[in-house]
Parts: sequence; structure tokens; C-alpha cells
Amino acid sequence: MPLRLDDLAERPAGDAMRRGWRGRCPQCGQGRIFGRYLKVNGHCPSCGLELAGHRADDAPPYFTILIVGHIIVPLMLMLEQHVQPPEWVHMVLWLPLTLGLSLWLLPHIKGCLIGLQWAKRMHGFGGEPDHA
Ligand SMILES: [Zn+2]
Repeated sequence: MPLRLDDLAERPAGDAMRRGWRGRCPQCGQGRIFGRYLKVNGHCPSCGLELAGHRADDAPPYFTILIVGHIIVPLMLMLEQHVQPPEWVHMVLWLPLTLGLSLWLLPHIKGCLIGLQWAKRMHGFGGEPDHA
């Protein structure tokens, strides 16, 4: 396979991850990564970058659980320690907050990881077929 100039172009990871966080293509920053909630488009609708080669797999839920857990659990413990509300307050407060924060965070983290994989030429973004 002949080497092309864009195969050697620098791919800043920070920019790519910020674009992914916003749900935009890591290469052009214009086209949407997701066709539906977490369904990644095959190609960027703007620049044509092949997005199907990503391997986000279990990493987005892992990081989402890690982050949401580190936000919700300390807040829940502080509330219990200082206010000691009845259990129904915990149920009404923490269940929707945990669910909402998780559902909001998941596509942002997935986009961010796809951006990182593109920037580091990982998996299907390296110009070679991925043999995972
Ligand atoms: Zn694009």
C-alpha cells in the first residue's frame, strides 16, 4: 500500500477528543459521529472519514460508571452524614440523578475515546485493517 501525505499528518489528541466530546468527527470537527444515541456512523457525513473502525467497546461505560460513582457516592454520603433524610429522599434524588448523568455522559465519553483512537491511529484509524 503506497504511503500518502495525510498518513503522516499530525493528529492533536486534545482537539480530536474535544471534537469527539461534542459528538463531532475527530478529523474535521463538522460531521456528526453518532447517527442515533450511541450508534456510530459508518463515515463522517462531512469529510468522509471512516468511523466504523473504532473500538470503543466497554471503555465508555467503564469511564461513565467511574466518573458518576465518584460524583454521586460522596454527595450521597455527605447528605446522609449532615442531613440524614428519610430513605425516600435518597431514592427520589439519587436514582434520577445517577441515571440522567450516566445517559448524558455516555455519548460524550464515547465520542472522546473515538477521538483519542483516531488521534493515536489506533485500531481502524491507522490506515491498515484492524485484526482485533
Ligand atoms: Zn469529518
